[in-house]
Amino acid sequence: MKTFVYIDHFKGEIQPASWEAIGLGKTLGSVSAIVFGSGVDAITKAAFEYGADEVFVADDTSLEDFRAEPYASTLSALASSQSPDLILFPITARTRELAAMSAVDLNTGVLTDISALEMNGDQLIATRPIYEGKVLEKTVCSGKPVMASIRPRFFPKPEPDVAKSGTATKVDVKADALTTVEGYSASESAVNLGDAGVIVSGGRGVSNNPSLQPPAGMDERQAEIWRAHQGFALITELANVLGGAVGASRSAVDGGYIPYSHQVGQTGKVVTPDLYIACGISGAVQHLVGMRNAKLIVAINKDADAPVFKQARYGVVGDLFQVVPALTEAFKKKLGK
Ligand SMILES: Cc1cc2nc3c(=O)[nH]c(=O)nc-3n(C[C@H](O)[C@H](O)[C@H](O)COP(=O)(O)OP(=O)(O)OC[C@H]3O[C@@H](n4cnc5c(N)ncnc54)[C@H](O)[C@@H]3O)c2cc1C
Repeated sequence: MKTFVYIDHFKGEIQPASWEAIGLGKTLGSVSAIVFGSGVDAITKAAFEYGADEVFVADDTSLEDFRAEPYASTLSALASSQSPDLILFPITARTRELAAMSAVDLNTGVLTDISALEMNGDQLIATRPIYEGKVLEKTVCSGKPVMASIRPRFFPKPEPDVAKSGTATKVDVKADALTTVEGYSASESAVNLGDAGVIVSGGRGVSNNPSLQPPAGMDERQAEIWRAHQGFALITELANVLGGAVGASRSAVDGGYIPYSHQVGQTGKVVTPDLYIACGISGAVQHLVGMRNAKLIVAINKDADAPVFKQARYGVVGDLFQVVPALTEAFKKKLGK
């Protein structure tokens, strides 16, 4: 099986699922990495270290900013000349566009958002969760090459071998961009829950500390949000000590405690960290579908009957305003921070 893996990056920051895609490709045969951009020597080097047998590189100032037209035309031309059996992408907003446009050029299809891939005879069968993860769908692509985008953190990441290197093969850029990027600015959705190894999440319970006295002059609603901010400050501190990200339930988001980009669940993000700590979250099914694939779930809740405990490996029945700071202190000591 000849597999190509597209290495997705933004300003030199590589999507870690690109390496997971190389790992997946290596289980099927040889892997050629594809690196497009401007000044991408470090990315090319890393692609060899993560196991690529060969790297195709289009390094050109016209590719400095991602634009679908030149990227897709260059990828399609490369695939037409090299005839891979499979092209893998880490799933991102950029690769959704790129894979779809290239698939049209190559007269094939894209299996999106896959969580498993297996060979059956000479056919590749992909699995992807649908209906909020309640059903696993098996799909095949009858076109060639098969194109597939992988979910982050569903496939093992290979260990890099810094001694491994190789000579990259130069690829020419095809087609001009029809659009120009005027600039970038950070947005709320900069929170990257999808790649986080640890997530500490807060729910409506983060506002429930009646002993906290808000500044004078606040009405009830303002006081609730003020208390919630104190609760989320504790959650953020724990997340920082563990090198993780901050998540939230929809009630916390709807309550105005924290922006939507932090929401986990059916109408938020689906996450798969190694560790998920749910603080003051009851465990409604719409929240659980977003985090139940975490490797280890810890729940902190005052109510011993909260449904979240059924999903959790470890549970602490207690007040998060006491338990979370105690955990932070314990981890600081343990981790020497
Ligand atoms: C169509 C639809 C889509 C939805 N999508 C989502 C989604 O994407 N994500 C999502 O999360 N929800 C979603 N919901 C909402 C979901 O049904 C729940 O309402 C929500 O998850 C509840 O959030 P919560 O657990 O923070 O709040 P609550 O259910 O109110 O639970 C708060 C918990 O905090 C505990 N608590 C209170 N004070 C403390 C304290 N001091 N210390 C410790 N524990 C304390 C309480 O015992 C309680 O268990 C959706 C609902 C619908 C209908």
